[in-house]
Amino acid sequence: MQAQALRNADKDDAVSAQFAPPAGRDRLIEIDNLVKEYVSRDGSPVLALDETSISVSRGEFVCVVGPSGCGKSTLLRILAGILKPSAGAVLLDGVPVTGARPEVGIVFQSPVLLPWLTVRKNIALPAQLQGLSKELTEERTDDLLKLVGLEGFGGKYPGELSGGMQQRVGIARSLIHDPSVLLMDEPFGALDAMTRDHMNQELQRICLEKKKTVLLITHGISEAVFLGDRVLVMSPRPGRIVDDITINIPRPRSLDVVNTEEFGEYVRTIRRHFGNTSH
Ligand code: ADP
Repeated sequence: MQAQALRNADKDDAVSAQFAPPAGRDRLIEIDNLVKEYVSRDGSPVLALDETSISVSRGEFVCVVGPSGCGKSTLLRILAGILKPSAGAVLLDGVPVTGARPEVGIVFQSPVLLPWLTVRKNIALPAQLQGLSKELTEERTDDLLKLVGLEGFGGKYPGELSGGMQQRVGIARSLIHDPSVLLMDEPFGALDAMTRDHMNQELQRICLEKKKTVLLITHGISEAVFLGDRVLVMSPRPGRIVDDITINIPRPRSLDVVNTEEFGEYVRTIRRHFGNTSH
């Protein structure tokens, strides 16, 4: 495999150690030397991820940034148990990931709501699959509608909501079974810039309130710095983690923070990894 040819054991050990969370913190997600190779239609191999190692502590908000096609979604789908890796280990709370897990909630770029169901019913949908009682589901749906700022919209249909509101429904739906981990794949990528800023603030508030562990994938550098406790930077395909930056900006962060010198410095540090690629 191409990955084998690229292996440089000494360098990789140093990289893995460098991207570990601070000693003594409880690691909830551990990804070790993950490799994913697809086979394209013409039979040629496509190395999407190459020996990627990541650790995320309980309660951390970690953002992964990288250029299009570097393997971000592949990484998230493997972690979600939707896709099998070619090599490497993926542990969630110490247990290898072999399929979908109840302690995980997933938010995709498009919330894919069922148009014939009300907002309430869309939010409650995964609860049935998870075997939650009707009473608990109703209670949690009420709480989540409040949490995501959609109180009073439970009886509406998705077609009656804006893009930002639909994504709020998607976030509420991902939380209905009270997962400890949220995996988010470009959750606000389809929204306009102003709505996206607002949703970033809302997501920060929700995560501070609910104390979730989050791995969020984005190609927006500012978004990553605004949201993350740490930002992991991926190289172009085959994706590898090439930097791990702790964002020492106190929370809650207001939108004004993007105008500060320290925020700008974080953004510049990350952007340097991408040279002239558009970000
Ligand atoms: P990103 O999310 O960073 O844009 P992806 O994880 O979607 O990247 O894809 C990483 C690389 O793997 C891309 O070059 C993409 O074309 C390739 N790829 C993704 N899925 C498949 C597939 N099913 N078959 C072949 N190649 C794929």
